[in-house]
Amino acid sequence: MSKPTPKLFRINTGSCNGCDVEFVATAFVDKFQLDKLGVELVEDISQANILVITGPLTARSEPFLKDYISRLSEPYAVVGIGTCSVTSGIFRDSYAINGPTDKVVDVDINIAGCPPRPHSIAEGIAKGIKILNQKASGEKVSKKIDMILQGFEAPKTFRGKISLHVEMCTACRTCETVCPSGAINITKVGDSYEHKVWHNTCCFCGNCGFFCPTGAIYNTNDFDTSKHQDEKYSDINLEYIKTDVCSCCKEVYKKPTKGLLGKAYVYDDVNKLNSNICPKCRKKENFKRMYS
Ligand code: SF4
Ligand code: SF4
Ligand code: SF4
Repeated sequence: MSKPTPKLFRINTGSCNGCDVEFVATAFVDKFQLDKLGVELVEDISQANILVITGPLTARSEPFLKDYISRLSEPYAVVGIGTCSVTSGIFRDSYAINGPTDKVVDVDINIAGCPPRPHSIAEGIAKGIKILNQKASGEKVSKKIDMILQGFEAPKTFRGKISLHVEMCTACRTCETVCPSGAINITKVGDSYEHKVWHNTCCFCGNCGFFCPTGAIYNTNDFDTSKHQDEKYSDINLEYIKTDVCSCCKEVYKKPTKGLLGKAYVYDDVNKLNSNICPKCRKKENFKRMYS
């Protein structure tokens, strides 16, 4: 069976328009290759076989989305653009939101980002086309798709997926507290702290890196956020921060980094003592040192 022409229809389910602007840039700027993918933009949903959705799915837009889906004819592929569509992002606990999108429709490809970079949108649509072709030919639909479009690079300063210098992290939880998307979760697991960042709900604001006292967490320039729906919850950055035993009270604690101690205490001998004891004992020891 010949491959169907990808006919793309876009619906906005309460987006701030940021994702829509990036979609337009993707659609009309040559270098992002949408035209090379043979995509046709259509204005009649009954002609479409690729449905692109932006926005967190507001309660008001839900009936419209359902209506559009009912008018699609099989086979079709669904691509969610933007962190709002993937997880409802920073809006997810709002009374006005019924999303994310996958509560209402079977999504094939998610493209996280607030908004995602046009390269990532083009890549997500290329993956959507691949799924459409597989559905049309009756082939088994891939559950994970490697990068299709090559040759794109984001500038070094681009705020992309989060990473962690694990040796610099003190598990202080500042990043978890300041993250507007609830993307960071730090939990005690055995003798370590598990530091987890969920890329699909991150809005790439850079708050975590800005407020981190040790410079441990940072945005990389990795822009490829287009993933299959099956990878929605597994696309994470996972690190384990090891703990130590306090040489004074024997409690388990996270050793501070040298640089951090150096900022707080200027004397080497004091730092030597401080580096082996927990914060509680550190307070007591320094109090004794100062007032005895
Ligand atoms: S993901 Fe960001 S840019 Fe896109 S609609 Fe939501 S708030 Fe706007
Ligand atoms: S990454 Fe930075 S802010 Fe987050 S827990 Fe580690 S040290 Fe604290
Ligand atoms: S960049 Fe950091 S603070 Fe901002 S949403 Fe992502 S994980 Fe949270």
